[in-house]
Amino acid sequence: MERRESAQERLKELTERVAAVQTKVDDATARRDAAQAELDTESASVAKERELVAGSVPADLIKLYEKLREQQGGVGAARLYQRKCEGCHIELNITELNEVRAAAADTVVRCENCRRILVRTSESGL
Ligand SMILES: [Zn+2]
Repeated sequence: MERRESAQERLKELTERVAAVQTKVDDATARRDAAQAELDTESASVAKERELVAGSVPADLIKLYEKLREQQGGVGAARLYQRKCEGCHIELNITELNEVRAAAADTVVRCENCRRILVRTSESGL
């Protein structure tokens, strides 16, 4: 008799623990699904923005960029930041910097090391 009550109590306790774990699983699943939906929305938004920007870039430059992107693990262009290519993280030497400095603003300049397109900004260190 006592053994049966003990077993029933243990069963009840385990059933409650299973229900508690299931609640946690349901909660985590709901948060995962919400995060996935948020990422899908953001991804669609970025893709649309990218399409708009790509439409304003000359076709030959897009072609070069896409080729480099494929060759360089998904990154075809990199910011030139404080004399460093942010694609390969190599600092340009003085000769390369002088060439970049001398290039017209609309000239496509590339990293001598990784060949990515270098994006010049006011923080390029030129
Ligand atoms: Zn580079």
